[in-house]
Amino acid sequence: MGLFYEKVKERLIRYAKIDTQSANGTSRVPTTDCQFDLARVLYEELIQIGVPDVYLDEEKCVVYGKIPASPDEHAGTCPVTPRPLGFVTHMDTAPDASGKDVKPWVLENYDGGDIVLNEERGIVMRSADYDNLRKYVGQDLVLTDGTTLLGGDDKAGIAAVMTMAEHLCVHREIRHGVIALAFTPDEEVGGLARDLDLERFASPTAYTLDGDHLGWYMDETFNASAAEVRIHGLSVHTGTARGIMKNAADIANAFMSALPAMEKPQYTEGREGFFHIVSCQAGCELAVVKLIVRDHDAGKFAAREKLLYKIVDHINAEYGEGTAEITITEQYRSMKEVIDRVPYLIDDLKQAIRACGIEPQTEPFRGGTDGSALSHRGLPAPNLSAGYENAHGRFEYVPIQSMEKNVEILLELVKIFAEG
Ligand SMILES: [Zn+2]
Repeated sequence: MGLFYEKVKERLIRYAKIDTQSANGTSRVPTTDCQFDLARVLYEELIQIGVPDVYLDEEKCVVYGKIPASPDEHAGTCPVTPRPLGFVTHMDTAPDASGKDVKPWVLENYDGGDIVLNEERGIVMRSADYDNLRKYVGQDLVLTDGTTLLGGDDKAGIAAVMTMAEHLCVHREIRHGVIALAFTPDEEVGGLARDLDLERFASPTAYTLDGDHLGWYMDETFNASAAEVRIHGLSVHTGTARGIMKNAADIANAFMSALPAMEKPQYTEGREGFFHIVSCQAGCELAVVKLIVRDHDAGKFAAREKLLYKIVDHINAEYGEGTAEITITEQYRSMKEVIDRVPYLIDDLKQAIRACGIEPQTEPFRGGTDGSALSHRGLPAPNLSAGYENAHGRFEYVPIQSMEKNVEILLELVKIFAEG
């Protein structure tokens, strides 16, 4: 059993029991008050483990911690100054599955078979359904009782960051630069760490610790926008409509049919982008089509937006000026163009992962992260996996050994950043 085993286990279980589910469809900040329950716990805990500079934003529900650079006995003689290092994790859990009354439990030395999550209700996680289980034979898994999610997304990340911070506070002999920590709300509902105060966050770069599969990292996300097309028709009595009626539903159909048929989420993978119709409400007088646009490549992404304008122009040419109007709203941009300007962030991360005996893996992420938005706000922030599996659902679990490894990876990063 490793040095950090009990620490990360105890932390994940304790955090998981706190309901922090965020909510869609509200403009409140944070979207749910319950996220403050974990924020206060983390605030107190940071103070208790000895982090000297701790702050809770009582309005926005963001917790900050700062460990100043270790006193440098080489100052003056050694030209290398340790670089600051930052970590951002999110406190909320996804609205997709209940996060209330989570009852985490530990299955030690997993044997590779089916796992009975809930005897009473007959809820079983079958190893045949979840390939990822095979990787963790012999390890110890934190599981749910099959009725809620676990919230390892992202509490496994928080547990690792907290344990690293505690280690640094106890072992003052470890040389390091400024360590900046932030715990944010509403990641799961598109919060994009909007209320993270970059002035208060004491590092010019950061890693988010989120995502599944131990040893995976992420430096590329989608570019993303949402579009709304409003189509105005003209309704008259159907009996006398000939030559007069303009049916907005028909025109909406024409709009949707003009989108490339195979460029939809269900037909694409890897670095292929898409259009996705989110909803279409259509009548004769008015039709509203909502869609989202995604592409990793900035050029192709721009071409996709251009195509939307072109289709709308075409509709207006055919049915009359003002028939269709379109609004496109940027959601987030790929972090890649920003991260590429700070290549050491990925080089150092890969080095830290390798130093812990794991081969780093990555693939372009078909979504966005808080780091996508943070990167474009001036805080380049690639992602390191938090090591959970089957997130957002009742079969979520976290191998304790993955969290332990993450603490080791974070401490390796501390070491590498201390070398200037
Ligand atoms: Zn997450």
